[in-house]
Amino acid sequence: MNGGARAEVVVDLDAIAANTAALRERVGRPLMAVVKADGYGHGLVPAARAALAGGADALGVAVLEEALALRAAGVPAPLLAWLHTPGTDYAAALTADVEVSVNAEWALAEVVAAARATGRTAAVHLFADTGLSREGATEAEWPGLVAAAARAQADGDVAVVGLWSHMAYADAPTHPTIGAQVRAFEEAVALARAAGLREARLHLANSAATVALPDTWYDMVRPGIAVYGLDPLGGDPAAHGLRPAMTVRARAALTKRVPAGVGVSYGHTYFPERETTLLLVPVGYADGVPRAAGNRAPVLAAGVHRTIAGRVCMDQFVLDVGDAEVHAGDEVVLWGPGDGGEPTAQDWADAVDTIHYELVTRIGGRFTRRYV
Ligand code: PLP
Repeated sequence: MNGGARAEVVVDLDAIAANTAALRERVGRPLMAVVKADGYGHGLVPAARAALAGGADALGVAVLEEALALRAAGVPAPLLAWLHTPGTDYAAALTADVEVSVNAEWALAEVVAAARATGRTAAVHLFADTGLSREGATEAEWPGLVAAAARAQADGDVAVVGLWSHMAYADAPTHPTIGAQVRAFEEAVALARAAGLREARLHLANSAATVALPDTWYDMVRPGIAVYGLDPLGGDPAAHGLRPAMTVRARAALTKRVPAGVGVSYGHTYFPERETTLLLVPVGYADGVPRAAGNRAPVLAAGVHRTIAGRVCMDQFVLDVGDAEVHAGDEVVLWGPGDGGEPTAQDWADAVDTIHYELVTRIGGRFTRRYV
């Protein structure tokens, strides 16, 4: 670990670049790297720069603040922001050359007003809800939206540069909803084309679809989690030429010998069977270590594999290391790429009954982030 760091998230930027390059090579067409949620917990600007170094053609974020932060940091790439609320400052988006997603006619009207106010043409991506029932215009709303967008394009207020949607089940590549979503997307595209929106590029594929569903690649893919080296299908990322970019580790704060049968941590949910050494790890749920990891998640402490003993607390958790030679100051790895024997984020996801997305985006708190 670095110097005396108590707890650090180490981000391998070369891995992000190499993962992006591997995905781009696989699909042989433009790739938008999704860097929302602080680059999935890896750092917004460094992750964006690493993805661009790996050949990403564009960047995607959820909210406008993320896009403006990238621009403020001097990141020049094409940039799409897609989750907006009424009253969003679209003028700021247009001034910063940020492309925006539009779900509804009322939102398009706000974008048009901003275009007129700034004297710019807004680059928009129209979002079709093809079955996720989340963002996007429904089948009933879509004809009205594309007609309004075609009028706004003819008036010079907007340029519809994208038609897009998002999948519900790409991580289950044989799921019947996949074909239904693809058909719904193609119907939505046909209507938009018929309305005159002929230039717009099509994009549908998230990471799972990027690795598993070539029929969804269209004009551009839009992976997030795979850029960070995690397998969207929940398996071994190496099978897709990916390497996890994040390692999470801490330095043990304290060891103590205790007799058999002591109750460990809040609520005494763990009792050592023999006299043992307990090791205190100074990170907890306030730092993004899930409370549900208590008695479930694996860690590697100075080369010794252990499951967290008892409940995870706000700032710390405990390991029972038995008679192993582990000392205060030794390194404890929560998760990493796995090639050093440490658990992976996927191992944690399995243990805690969540997804690696949630783990990597939540880890933070008082961890220091270090880029290598
Ligand atoms: N596209 C949209 C609209 C998203 O919301 C997300 C992330 O949730 C992505 C693409 C990237 O998804 P993934 O990280 O599964 O590749």
